[in-house]
Amino acid sequence: MAQQAAAGAPATACCYDAPREPRAASPSRRVSRQPVGAHVSSSGGLWTAVDRARAMEAEAIQVFPSAPQTWRQTKHTPEAYARFRAARAEAGITHVWLHCPYLPNLAAEDEEHWEKSIDAVANALRVADGAGADGVVVHTGSRRARGMQEVLPRVATALERILAAAPGEALLALENAAGQGGTIGSFDDLGAIVRAVPSPRLAVCLDTCHAYAAGYDITTPEGLDATLRELDDAVGLQRLRALHANDSKGELGSRRDRHENIGDGQIGEAGFRTLLAEPRLQALPLLLEVPGIDGKSGPDRENVLRLKRIRDAVAPP
Ligand SMILES: [Zn+2]
Ligand SMILES: [Zn+2]
Repeated sequence: MAQQAAAGAPATACCYDAPREPRAASPSRRVSRQPVGAHVSSSGGLWTAVDRARAMEAEAIQVFPSAPQTWRQTKHTPEAYARFRAARAEAGITHVWLHCPYLPNLAAEDEEHWEKSIDAVANALRVADGAGADGVVVHTGSRRARGMQEVLPRVATALERILAAAPGEALLALENAAGQGGTIGSFDDLGAIVRAVPSPRLAVCLDTCHAYAAGYDITTPEGLDATLRELDDAVGLQRLRALHANDSKGELGSRRDRHENIGDGQIGEAGFRTLLAEPRLQALPLLLEVPGIDGKSGPDRENVLRLKRIRDAVAPP
């Protein structure tokens, strides 16, 4: 926690003065479109995530900046960032996203929880800048029984403070939610937030499982078209920067946030074929957050290969 606690302090810590290496714009192996990536562990150092991605043939990665169930912030050294950037360029990883830990709630009523939330998300953004990542995906939080309009000023203030405390280039992508409980993350919620905080650094990450569970039938061309139109009206499709590619255990509109392996859930292989054929989604990285074929280890090579097979069948490389 120490190194980042003094938000706004001069960049004595690590990442800011590290020379920015050019992003891996020309991957060594060909990635036609829609890079297939995965959430991977960075246990042992940020750069180890690249080895894990390589082993499963992933073309893009998502990592946590620190342990997801704690407030403790991992200190990444300048050497760790440099190693990560070099490994990433060598492996031809096209996109890197961080996923914010789970504890922050930007609508928290409790003052201490709210302050810690702001600090944690700002820290994740600074790590993203240090690592040369595209940005950070965040769950905005929970409004509990309160209405969105009631919590909006608090969420907006939190986001303004976060962006000011981490004034780099990394994007902050708000993720859509499955619609469970008082979770903030409907398309309308995200629209209200980006109107309240009109920063070009605010983006959106669309999770396919969450969208399906929230009642958007993205498995058919008509349903997907209606979904993308609604998202465009709410936030503007230019803000959509990443996809969490997850099949859904729960049925359409179930409001259950239960991810399934690609092709084994309610979205199914045909649903992903629809998604991967959609022109408006062509430029986006696909990031797997699936349980894994063994049901517990998380994204694996088999899920990466399944998505690649579907992608390459839709439009051969
Ligand atoms: Zn997700
Ligand atoms: Zn989820």
